[in-house]
Amino acid sequence: MKQKAKSDRFYRFVFRCFRPAFLLLARIKLGVRAKHPKRYHEPILIYSNHTTDFDFMAVSSHIKNHFYFVCSQHILGMGLFGKLFGKLFHPIPVFKGSVKGGAMLDLLRRIKRSNNVLVFCEGRLSHNGKTQPFGIAAAQLAKAAKCRLVTFRTKGGFFLQPRWQKSINRGKLFSSGIVNEYSKEALAAMSDEELLGKIQTDLYTDAYEEQKKRMQPLRFKHGIGEILRYYSLCPACKTTGSLTCRDDGFTLSCSSCGYSMRWNEYGFFEGEPSYVKTPADWEALEQITYKERFGQGQFFSDEGVTLFATDENFQRTLLVSGTLAGDAEQLSIAAFSFPYHELEGLEVLSGGSSLVFSRKGEHFLLATDGGNLAKYLYLYEWGKSNRK
Ligand SMILES: [Zn+2]
Repeated sequence: MKQKAKSDRFYRFVFRCFRPAFLLLARIKLGVRAKHPKRYHEPILIYSNHTTDFDFMAVSSHIKNHFYFVCSQHILGMGLFGKLFGKLFHPIPVFKGSVKGGAMLDLLRRIKRSNNVLVFCEGRLSHNGKTQPFGIAAAQLAKAAKCRLVTFRTKGGFFLQPRWQKSINRGKLFSSGIVNEYSKEALAAMSDEELLGKIQTDLYTDAYEEQKKRMQPLRFKHGIGEILRYYSLCPACKTTGSLTCRDDGFTLSCSSCGYSMRWNEYGFFEGEPSYVKTPADWEALEQITYKERFGQGQFFSDEGVTLFATDENFQRTLLVSGTLAGDAEQLSIAAFSFPYHELEGLEVLSGGSSLVFSRKGEHFLLATDGGNLAKYLYLYEWGKSNRK
């Protein structure tokens, strides 16, 4: 116990040393400069939405206290950076975004030792500008922590760092700040469902709804070609994988039907005719189209995919390379097959170029160089619901 108290002191010290750098980065990367940052004199649990890799620096700009944060195991697996990050800030590693089991106990213990903890409830950045859904566990965790809950929201981060993009754009968040606070008594008085509703409302943002009001010019300095790692269906002829990004970096053209659509300076698609205006429109079109096709027995496959086994620390072991194919029952690659009903937590990483999932306690990663594996999410969801 004494050992733990000492190490908390160490991490608080390190955090204090780094905070000026966090504030500087929040200013440079996100345009965030909180005028009246708040200091708490009791342990708090902070829930925030997740729109960029620099979110915790935005939180640090608004809240003066040291806090631990939950972070995805794959960040700690990123070589020297991951090691250093883990050693300096001692984050709570979670596997694929969900705080459960050992991570949850670790989090509760840290709060009990009078620390603060920041959790990004979605566990991932948004690919379509809307806060991604999260479940009842967020409400249960907040109640179990028996401390004050502070909700925090950033708006407009999607346009700086959409999930399908490798790098961050120049620009500013639309806004950021504390939304609400709930005392532990207030939390205890609410049902889990009621509390979840409040947290979801506090954290919800739709970057496009905000942008419609602002119509602020955006700087996508790297173009938007990487969006094809997440979305892959031509909105006109509905061919999968026929779109490429032209040299201008902002026009997507179909090699099959010749249709093209352009991303304008406000982050909306323009086309003649206009089939989709936003990534959310595009996603809805993909969902409907693929569902119809799956029902007719039409599936997809991708060449040049590699399968890895990964351990809890996200270290990879190569298993096989080949063509990944999906059908009504399973994903298969070479001699490996993965029936949907045995899989847990299928999730895309690398902006859509990788898929991670678990099966019976074993963890796997499918990866393709710049290709699109995000579409297998539709198939997995459809295959699972079909079985019920
Ligand atoms: Zn087309």
